[in-house]
Amino acid sequence: MTQKIPILSLTFDDLTRHLKKIFGKGEYHAAAIMREIFLHGNKNFLHVKEFKRSGDLTKKVMTALDVLSLPIVEKKHADGVVKWSSLLSDGHSIESVMIPMTHHHTLCISSQVGCRMGCRFCQTGQMGFVRQLTTEEIVAQVYTAIFQINAPIRNIVFMGMGEPLDNFDAVIKAIHVLTDPRGFAFPKKFITISTAGHIPGIQKLSKSDPKGIHLAISINTANDSLRDQLMPINRKFPLFALQKTLSEYPLKSKGVLFIEYVLIKDINDTDEDADQLANYVAPLRVRINVIPFNSQAGIPYETPSQEKLERFCQRLIDHKLYVRKRATKGNQVMAACGQLGRT
Ligand code: SF4
Repeated sequence: MTQKIPILSLTFDDLTRHLKKIFGKGEYHAAAIMREIFLHGNKNFLHVKEFKRSGDLTKKVMTALDVLSLPIVEKKHADGVVKWSSLLSDGHSIESVMIPMTHHHTLCISSQVGCRMGCRFCQTGQMGFVRQLTTEEIVAQVYTAIFQINAPIRNIVFMGMGEPLDNFDAVIKAIHVLTDPRGFAFPKKFITISTAGHIPGIQKLSKSDPKGIHLAISINTANDSLRDQLMPINRKFPLFALQKTLSEYPLKSKGVLFIEYVLIKDINDTDEDADQLANYVAPLRVRINVIPFNSQAGIPYETPSQEKLERFCQRLIDHKLYVRKRATKGNQVMAACGQLGRT
């Protein structure tokens, strides 16, 4: 039986090595396969010019190539947002979300089934950790979004189910595949990893390739005792240590860290909370994204009023911070921040 080639987990160089080993072919055919699979979603090479003259080889290559397909088992739409659940081969499912922005689409993908971080405001956190996703399963979400959901994607954010830095190797390899110039060729500047504050992962990321991707940190409060409650990871990696790690993170000359702040009614939405946050980020180069929490069954928190949201953001702006107020697009399909994992 011909050895299978899991194309969605491979860069151009990886694929070239596989083709050499199995078929004695090299870069010429690898480039054609990358183009057909990643740019056109085409798995039939019979009429592709690089393969046309060698029918036997073409059939063998097509048989060997394994393009992981994740069947969509549920799909919901609201406000232009599309959220879908994909079935994995072991029966678990994961969620991905396509969010329309003003001029493009952002794709939010999962890195784990469940999550062991246990953030109190997050549906995925309530599931607990089930397993890591493979590189192939991560990239397959992008493949599905492009060729089945059919939306032009510009940004990819690792903000779906899971803590991406807790699945470091698979996520980094997926980014190599996604940014490979012979494949999807996503620019690194349009890829963001969002972490709950996984310090060893941030340190590892700062020393590894690919450089140039964005790092977002879900902070949600600059008060240690409140953060201990909201985000149990804070007991292991407290705010001070996180701040030090972030201050050492290598940014490009005009680069910033994205600070994510889910604003929760009567929990972290006061002037004092805003002042504490401003003090906390003062030594860092940041952009702050404030996202109003969406009320949801089973989570004991509520959405802040519009007035509170405006006031909180203005308070940060008064501290001369660059603030973006995020609309909670998709909350009708539970596709907003912290709502994946329960359809
Ligand atoms: S917010 Fe992110 S890190 Fe926290 S439990 Fe949810 S998925 Fe995990």
